[in-house]
Amino acid sequence: MERLRISIHGAVQGVGFRPFAYRLAAALKIRGWIRNTPQGVLIEAEGPRQELEQFLSRLQKDRPALASIHGLETVYLDPMGYEAFSIVESDASLESSVWIMPDIATCGTCVSEIMDPRDRRYRYPFTNCVNCGPRFTIQEGIPYDRGSTTMRAFRMCGECRAEYEDAGNRRFHTEPNACGRCGPQLELWDPAGKFLAGADQALERAAKELREGRIVAVKGLGGFHLMADARNGQAVRALRERKHREEKPLALMAPDLEWARRLCAVSEAEERLLASPEAPIVLARSRSREIAPEVAPRNPYLGVMLPYTPLHHLLLRDLGFPVVATSGNLLDAPILIEEREALAKLGSVADFFLVHNRPIARHADDSIVRMIAGRPCLLRRARGYAPIPFEVPSALPSVAAFGAQLKSAVAFSRGGEIFVSQHIGDLGNSETAETFGMITERLPRLLGLQSEIAAYDLHPDYASTQAALKSGLRGVRVQHHLAHVLSCMAENEVEYPFLGVAWDGTGMGTDGTVWGGEFLAVEETHWKRFASFRRFRLPGSERAVREPRRIALALLYEIFRDEMEKQAPEGPFSKEEKEVLLEIIRKGLYSPYTSSVGRLFDGVSSLLGLRQKASFEGQAAMEVEFAAEESSIEEAYAFELREEEILRIDWEPVIRAILEDRKKGLSAADAARKFHHALAEAIAAVCERAGLARVVLSGGCFQNKLLAEKTIEILRRKGFRPYWHQRIPPNDGGICVGQVMETSRVCHPKQAEHVSCGPG
Ligand code: ZN
Ligand code: ZN
Ligand code: FE
Repeated sequence: MERLRISIHGAVQGVGFRPFAYRLAAALKIRGWIRNTPQGVLIEAEGPRQELEQFLSRLQKDRPALASIHGLETVYLDPMGYEAFSIVESDASLESSVWIMPDIATCGTCVSEIMDPRDRRYRYPFTNCVNCGPRFTIQEGIPYDRGSTTMRAFRMCGECRAEYEDAGNRRFHTEPNACGRCGPQLELWDPAGKFLAGADQALERAAKELREGRIVAVKGLGGFHLMADARNGQAVRALRERKHREEKPLALMAPDLEWARRLCAVSEAEERLLASPEAPIVLARSRSREIAPEVAPRNPYLGVMLPYTPLHHLLLRDLGFPVVATSGNLLDAPILIEEREALAKLGSVADFFLVHNRPIARHADDSIVRMIAGRPCLLRRARGYAPIPFEVPSALPSVAAFGAQLKSAVAFSRGGEIFVSQHIGDLGNSETAETFGMITERLPRLLGLQSEIAAYDLHPDYASTQAALKSGLRGVRVQHHLAHVLSCMAENEVEYPFLGVAWDGTGMGTDGTVWGGEFLAVEETHWKRFASFRRFRLPGSERAVREPRRIALALLYEIFRDEMEKQAPEGPFSKEEKEVLLEIIRKGLYSPYTSSVGRLFDGVSSLLGLRQKASFEGQAAMEVEFAAEESSIEEAYAFELREEEILRIDWEPVIRAILEDRKKGLSAADAARKFHHALAEAIAAVCERAGLARVVLSGGCFQNKLLAEKTIEILRRKGFRPYWHQRIPPNDGGICVGQVMETSRVCHPKQAEHVSCGPG
């Protein structure tokens, strides 16, 4: 028995949606309720898993003809024990009414119009209606009307105006309403910005160039994509070389669902996501040989999305094959949104630029979702989802939460809602940091929010921390891993007390060392670090992150110390390199201690011979996961638990066993599998010692499907209640949400007299 909360926004009121949901629930014997909200409806449905899935799918498929769903998000929660299904009156006082709507993928009706030669919008790439089209990425101010969007410069022609003013028309008050006569236009440029073709010729020519292996920068909804024929290894290689992106997987856009099925093994839930109004990138198992291996080297998954604007629909229809559609940016810079800047930055990457004159008000990357234990889990929350708030059951102070450093995002709270910004990116990049500054300043204004408290990370060097300190607001510092587990607690509405498992790459601990393999016992008013991994050094700090072999060496050093020469395996180093590294490890120079599980994965990746140097963050760990997926053995290595000042999980027996196994010739896949199992078992063992029934799993390591699913399985078998991420990313993109929650805890009126929320 599970409870599924479904938030739907769209045109679902006054069209018989509630009675329809009621009848459907009755037919499936589902209990719960439905009520209207200012943006749509909210449903809670309780029943067995299979019925819930059916309910969800039929809510969308069989909905009343006039109902249109602009967005749908789900979260599985603990059952409440509802006895019947009812239609309840909404409590208007609890709701906020102003929302900035996210962008909506082109609806079926608009797609048929642009494909119909008799329609006046035939092949018009900026077609939209009240049920689809740009919102968040064109809106500059409130209230939402044409004058406050980037469509302001386009004057509607007579026909468009008539549609806009006709209450019976699908385009009644559709702010970005446009047609080929009055709306934005396409142009194809060369890398010098010279005009080559306009309107339909631009589209046809772009398709021809893509077909011939050229790279085209395409201005879309929330920024530029770089596109290339995904079947053409040479084209994809050229794109990688020019973009200096060695191996990080590239996202694909498939022409239609049929094609997506051909490329990947997609479940019904994954199909639903692909075809949803949010149209995210779905990570699914690849099953096609048609795609060039260069798209996702040594990676059994593909990130696939479907066309979500009329421009994409037309282009992909003309092509008839999948294209790489990766963010138009350089390295960690933000996705480009402006033509002139795109020419300047991507002039040496793209052969052609397919652009248009509808300005993009703010960037929105493609969102990314992966199914974890049968539920969607957003790994990147951006286009289609941002800035929909998510609700928490208690009143929150007005907080601006500045997030972390990598995969940054910010959050703002009001009442019982947390508004999370779109994914911003790595603040180590100065342009990304600039975008971050802009969003933290403008987004609350757009949402009509006034913050009173700034929440930020303990790490003094994070650009987000510095921005928070400059904000002039009184501040609350929030430990990184506490923020991780509180973000997961919040979205799953977990009750206190619980054990939070926060495993990631890095985060500053309260003791000034680098944490990343943490178990936090969290109660209503306080928390403590209950357990952690044995520490090891990161030789060369940042460089150790890029070179998993350095971590392997550091692990071996902790085990063998003065016996390194005699006992430890050679390793992928020259004699000199090794001596220098051992020297800095011994002396602790530029080699901070860490308890990070992400780094432990890196070290294991090196010891298994999978990866010695990583070309992007998380690569080494991912390859351990993929290797483990190849194996089906049941055995596990065993970590040792030791009572010290806190409970320590010692990896030494695991590393020793890996060395033994490798000597005996056990495959890397089998060893990687045993390592995964050992980690999941270690979580269960710590849980048994902590004696807390509820276990919250967070941090970047739980993007690892095998690790997450194995852990969930073992915890359930042993009678624990595991919770994992659904709408909020497990990675640092979710930190801002946890920061809001902790601020709410320490500044709660109940505790106001005990806790000061002063600076620092
Ligand atoms: Zn439409
Ligand atoms: Zn028009
Ligand atoms: Fe983290």
